[in-house]
Amino acid sequence: MLQFQEILALQNFLWQKRKADKKIGFVPTMGALHEGHLSLIRLSKQENDVTVCSVFVNPTQFNNAEDLAKYPRTIEKDAQMLESVGCDVLFIPEVATMYPEKTTLQFHFGHLESVMEGKFRKGHFNGVALVVSKLFHIVQPHRAYFGQKDLQQFAIIRILVQDLMFPLELIRCPIVRQANGLAMSSRNQRLNLQEQETASHLYKALLRAKAMLESYSVKQIQKAVKEYLLNIKGITLEYFEIADANTLQIIEDLNSFQGDLALCIAAYVSGVRLIDNLIVENFVKK
Ligand code: AMP
Repeated sequence: MLQFQEILALQNFLWQKRKADKKIGFVPTMGALHEGHLSLIRLSKQENDVTVCSVFVNPTQFNNAEDLAKYPRTIEKDAQMLESVGCDVLFIPEVATMYPEKTTLQFHFGHLESVMEGKFRKGHFNGVALVVSKLFHIVQPHRAYFGQKDLQQFAIIRILVQDLMFPLELIRCPIVRQANGLAMSSRNQRLNLQEQETASHLYKALLRAKAMLESYSVKQIQKAVKEYLLNIKGITLEYFEIADANTLQIIEDLNSFQGDLALCIAAYVSGVRLIDNLIVENFVKK
């Protein structure tokens, strides 16, 4: 696996590949890699000739300095894991490489900024859109792979690709979970085994909510999720919402909705903020 820290060196390499008509797949990450990330790399390998993974802890998407400082950084292990699944290129730029100047550029994503992750992490999606745009310009991939785990981020990036006409195909990849149901996340490294067990109740809450969709209202399901998690020591619920899985518009009345539903949850476990979601395809209330 080749490693690049500099933009020009990476671009020279990729330019040669593009000239030889090779298809480039791209997986942007913030490192501290786990099986979830590797599933994206594997898919990219299947569908492209060259797979590029970036590891960059993007400061502009953190609205909490402590969260940024505590974000796990395990670059040597990351490189080994990427090598083990046959990733071709690792791009690990410095902050000064990605942000040579202070930026004032602002993106606006309408309602997506005022619900769920947009509401609770002010400025987060602006930072995501900024870094993903820069990375797309640098790598110029044919296909880019993102996880369903960050569903609202996927909706944002879809808008970015459509509105700015990035000539690439976006691919949404399923959530990889631990055996206990907990969605894999770099943040799980900050939890001990007991805390990870506690955190797995987020997924259990989503499954309970899914089972209630047919016979209960949104308000009743929200109340049930809240009560379920109140009984689990160590979890503080931030939000549980039911939304359109593609637009992330909040759904208040299940009777008037038809299509793909997303059950979305965010909570703190031992001071670590976790998110998860479950998609119910082709939902229609009978
Ligand atoms: P991150 O390093 O957290 O920015 O994640 C990089 C990419 O991996 C994003 O597209 C995430 O949605 C995706 N990802 C993170 N966790 C998982 C998971 N458990 N399953 C599948 N994809 C994931």
